[in-house]
Amino acid sequence: MKPSLQKLHKFLKLEVERNYDNRAVVGGLERMLEPWQAEAQADDLPSELIQAVLSRLRDYAKLTPHSRAEILDGLWRRIQREANEAVPPLPSPSAALPEEITRPPQKTLRKAPELVKVSPVENASVSPAPPPPSIRPAAPRPAGQPAALSAPTTVLSGVGPRHAQTLTRLGLHTLGDMLYNLPRRYDDYSQLKTINRLMFGEEVTIIGTVENVTTRIIRGGRFQVVEAVVSDGTGALRITWFNQPWIGQRLQPDAQIVLSGKIDQYLGRLTMNNPEWEPIEQQNLHTNRIVPIYPLTAKITQRWLRRLMYDVVSYWAPRVNDHLPENTKVSADLLDLATALFQAHFPTSDVNLKSARHRLAFDEIFLLQLGVLQQKRMWQNRTARQYQPPDEWITQLCSSLPYTLTGAQQRALEDVRHDLASGQPMNRLLQGDVGSGKTVIAALAIAVIALSGAQSAVMAPTSILAEQHYHSLQQLLAGTTGEQPEPPLRPEQIRLLLGATPEAEKQEIRQGLADGSIKLIIGTHALIEDPITFAELQLSVVDEQHRFGVEQRALLRQKGDNPHLLVMTATPIPRSLALTIYGDLDISVMDEMPPGRQPIETHVMFPRERERAYSFIKSQLASGRQAFIIYPLVEETENSAALAAVEEHARLQKEVFPDHKLGLLHGRLKPEEKDAVMTRFRDGELHILVSTSVVEVGVDVPNATVMLIEGANHFGLAQLHQFRGRVGRSEHQSYCLLIPDTPDAVENERLAAMVETNDGFVLAERDLQQRGPGDFLGTRQAGYSELRLANLADVHLIEKARRHALELFETDPDLQLPQHSLLSASLQRFWRRGEGDIS
Ligand code: ADP
Ligand code: MG
Repeated sequence: MKPSLQKLHKFLKLEVERNYDNRAVVGGLERMLEPWQAEAQADDLPSELIQAVLSRLRDYAKLTPHSRAEILDGLWRRIQREANEAVPPLPSPSAALPEEITRPPQKTLRKAPELVKVSPVENASVSPAPPPPSIRPAAPRPAGQPAALSAPTTVLSGVGPRHAQTLTRLGLHTLGDMLYNLPRRYDDYSQLKTINRLMFGEEVTIIGTVENVTTRIIRGGRFQVVEAVVSDGTGALRITWFNQPWIGQRLQPDAQIVLSGKIDQYLGRLTMNNPEWEPIEQQNLHTNRIVPIYPLTAKITQRWLRRLMYDVVSYWAPRVNDHLPENTKVSADLLDLATALFQAHFPTSDVNLKSARHRLAFDEIFLLQLGVLQQKRMWQNRTARQYQPPDEWITQLCSSLPYTLTGAQQRALEDVRHDLASGQPMNRLLQGDVGSGKTVIAALAIAVIALSGAQSAVMAPTSILAEQHYHSLQQLLAGTTGEQPEPPLRPEQIRLLLGATPEAEKQEIRQGLADGSIKLIIGTHALIEDPITFAELQLSVVDEQHRFGVEQRALLRQKGDNPHLLVMTATPIPRSLALTIYGDLDISVMDEMPPGRQPIETHVMFPRERERAYSFIKSQLASGRQAFIIYPLVEETENSAALAAVEEHARLQKEVFPDHKLGLLHGRLKPEEKDAVMTRFRDGELHILVSTSVVEVGVDVPNATVMLIEGANHFGLAQLHQFRGRVGRSEHQSYCLLIPDTPDAVENERLAAMVETNDGFVLAERDLQQRGPGDFLGTRQAGYSELRLANLADVHLIEKARRHALELFETDPDLQLPQHSLLSASLQRFWRRGEGDIS
């Protein structure tokens, strides 16, 4: 084909693929008419043809997309007839054109979902028939995926054992892995620009003719520079490649090439350095398209990997069987998997790219939801003992408490009573900000169980917390101070089991649990690790749920015969996470604080204001209060935080607070040492507790009124909020002082959210947006490591996937229908690949 025709074909083809938005060339197709006319004349194209092109395209911008389609189609047919040489067709407009084409251009066109529902091969801006990789697809197997997807990468031509080894470093073992090896990002080089309209700093694609090529050696032979001048009829541009001498050999004068890259400036003139380039007649992988950028490792180049990915994706994506049921796909308005995979790698437009990534993200959340809902259903299908104590008994029990329950506590109690009476095992998450009073709800549930003579267990993440629960539950359930005639339990029926509990005592406790004489056991992990058996475990309570994984919950459950389960957390859980990580649980939210609490005053202070913070603490100590000072984990290990805490403790004691007693708490202390320090602090023997983040959960010292957090920028908002909850637990005004160790404005702005609000939900939501779900996941849970595209903060996506998962469940909860067999296989793979197991 003559160069000018080749070029015109390129422009028009791109325009068709962009659905006639007249943006194939920046500024509109008419921008290229004048330079093209000169080239066409130089090519000796028949002058009637040149005139036809000019006259048809001159008013192109004013036409509707529909007319544009007709014009281009007619024009190209004429060129095919009259060009005196073989000319390839344009892509078929009907494939690319959405149904609705009468509304004003751009807006409708770019949004119409039909736009993207075209087969990738037809719509791709690459040549339609990729060279098939060296292996053939297996015979059609509707019930599964093509066997070849699990073939090693060495079956690809050009991939030997060495390359395969390198690819495994990217996690790519099989062809299937490669299909899901999604780009890290994309460079959008899809729009063309003429040279006379280039601007410094922009990323562009141009098409031009190579005028000349030279190779120079500079810096005493250490660098080779290839320079070329490329022109397109509107102007010329100097291009430079450093240390890629082979380009000098491949670039021939008069060749038509496509260049993509950034426009630079050298000595006041525009230029491009090291752009990607390809001959114009080639399918474009590296230029003039939305170019995928893959994660790399040593020894392979982006171009090599991209080419390989293209071979695999263009051949195998269309052969993948879609695991989503047709119904779901239609009602959720999703791309089919083949198209989504292709478009996610080699998108033909940004709209297609978005739809493709949406489809793949949907898959992830959908599988997550199916697993979570299956889990929930399994639980609901079991039967549990029913507990229905008389109303008067409950009322009397509540009136014996040292306070009246808040409205939120009453509602939570109703939920719990309903569950206990339902005949199905309770599976409830009690979520309430620190200090909202969750313990008493657990206590009331335990009392209900105890009334029937059955057993309960409470598991806490640390021994300090377990011990604290032990004390408060002793008081609430076996207290002698209350006026009730008979408390639900006697003190000796409530026991504490820690890792540090002496073996003889453990032995005695095991005995008491096995014979049923102990009705309530409170402990740490020791509860599930120790070979304990219960006579009749009917209620398991897990405190600070986010510290435990699904597996631990399951383990505690297994200690009884379908026991009721109550998990509690002070971490406010954003809605999106409540539906995923906690999606198998019913949730009660306690969004009301016991009366009389004053909101905590929070301040962000500069490091140089530290002295002021210290004198403020002194003034609080002088009026009898206590304070926390927290040090962060600056490096990866708890050790470094411990070190900081140890050093600072010594300095503070000696230089800043010589007249007060300072305690020290960190993760390297033995459990009983931690307990000793905490106890002394709680009892007021220590005035200040210097600590690492181990103090985070649950510790209750009402007399403490100052929480000073050093290096506050190292913590997420949700965690800072947890720390803050350690104070403000009494009638005294409390304070939270945040001292970041960086003047970074963005970080300090993030911390300002702590000043703005005391609402844990607001902070948790922001934390999730800013830092992702890591802080909420705690123990990593099965399935979550599989999320590559889906954002756990995306409530919209999560609700959509959940809705469709529920819909599917209504017809086929066990995925036993033949049309769901692929989905069932995907579901199993998805959950198996994650850590741990769901049981
Ligand atoms: P959480 O575990 O939710 O952080 P706790 O159960 O430890 O909170 O309760 C925090 C404090 O509030 C405890 O000292 C508890 O005695 C007290 N408390 C709980 N409920 C009430 C209430 N309704 N009225 C007054 N004080 C309450
Ligand atoms: Mg608590």
